[in-house]
Amino acid sequence: MYRKKLILTICGMLAAVLAGCGNAESGGQAEGLKEESRDIFAMDTYMTVTAYGPEAARAVEMAEEEIKRLDSLLSTGDTGSEVYKINEEKEGVMSSDTAYLVERALELYDSTDGAFDIAVYPVVKAWGFTDQNYRVPEPEEIEELLKHVDASQIGFDEANSRISLGEQMQIDLGGIAKGYTSARIMDIFRECQIESGLVNLGGNVQVIGSKPDQSLWRVAVKDPKDPEGYVGILSVKDRAVITSGAYERYFEQDGEVYHHIIDPDTGYPADSGLVSVTIVSADGTLADGLSTSLFIMGLDRASDYWREHKDEFDAVLMTREGELYVTEGLKDSFTSDYEVRVIES
Ligand code: ADP
Ligand code: MG
Repeated sequence: MYRKKLILTICGMLAAVLAGCGNAESGGQAEGLKEESRDIFAMDTYMTVTAYGPEAARAVEMAEEEIKRLDSLLSTGDTGSEVYKINEEKEGVMSSDTAYLVERALELYDSTDGAFDIAVYPVVKAWGFTDQNYRVPEPEEIEELLKHVDASQIGFDEANSRISLGEQMQIDLGGIAKGYTSARIMDIFRECQIESGLVNLGGNVQVIGSKPDQSLWRVAVKDPKDPEGYVGILSVKDRAVITSGAYERYFEQDGEVYHHIIDPDTGYPADSGLVSVTIVSADGTLADGLSTSLFIMGLDRASDYWREHKDEFDAVLMTREGELYVTEGLKDSFTSDYEVRVIES
C-alpha cells in the first residue's frame, strides 16, 4: 500500500540528499574515517548524531537539518506545524512525510487491533502530557473524549495525500515520529556513504553498519526502576533499538504514577503489566510504533503479535515484577546479569 509512495518519497529525498553530500567540501576518501558527533535538542528531547567517514561532517549537518525540518512539520504543539494545522482545520493535503506517517499509523492501528491509535491525542492532552500541566481527568471527561478516539474514522485519500478528521478529532504522530526521524537519518547516512554511525533520539537508537572497529554496536536497555542503570545490552548492526517505558514521561498524584502511553480502550495510562518494551527492527518507524503498541498489549498479546510478525522485529519486554523476556531472535544478541526468558515462536 504505502510502498509505492515510500519509494517515490525516498527517491525525491535521496536526490536532495545526494546533491547535499555531493556539494560537500570534503577531501573525499583520502581523509579516512573521520568522526563527527553533535548534540541537538529537538522533539522535546536530547539527541546525539554520530557518523564516521569522509563525509561525516556533512552527514551530521544534514541530519540536524532533517531533525529540525521534521520537528517543525510533526509537532502537535507548534502552531506553525502541519499536524497543528490538520488538527485545527480537520482536513487538508499533506506533505509526503506526513502522508507516509499517517499511512503507517493507520496500518499499525489495523495490525495492533487499535492499540496504536493516533486519534488518542485529545486524551493525551486532557492528561496534560502535551504541555506538562499534568492532571487526572474525571472519568466522565475521559468517557466523552474516547467517543472520538478511533483512527478507523480518519479519512485518508492515498492518491491525493488528503486527510480528513471528524469535528472532535485530533491526531498525534508522537508515537512514531522519532522512529521515522532516525530512519530518515539512516537514509542520509547511506547517501553520504557513511558505513558506521548512530543516532540516539532521547533513548531511541538507530545504527548503521557496525562500529568503526567492525565490532557490533552495544545498546543498553535501561532499567525501568533505575533509568541510570540498565538491565542488559543488545549487540546489533543496521538496526533501530527503540524503547517505550513507563518511566519516560510521567507524573505522580496521590501516590499514583501516571505515564504518557495511553490505552485507547480505557483512556488511562496503559496498565498491562509491562513496564518497558524495546523493539529491535531494521525499520525505525515500525520499531517506534510497536514499542508503544506492545507496551499497551501486555506480555501475552505482545508475544502473540510477535509470533505473527516475527520477520519484522524482535523485542525485549520487562514486567512489573521484574521478569525479563526476549523474543527468540535476540537469544544470542541480548546479554544480561538477570535471568532471561525466551519467547519461542
Ligand atoms: P516516547 O515518545 O517517550 O519515546 P513512545 O514512542 O511510546 O514514547 O510514544 C509515546 C507518545 O505517543 C505519547 O507521548 C503520545 O504522544 C503518543 N501516544 C500515547 N498513546 C498512544 C497510543 N495508544 N497510540 C499512538 N500514540 C500514542
Ligand atoms: Mg513509540
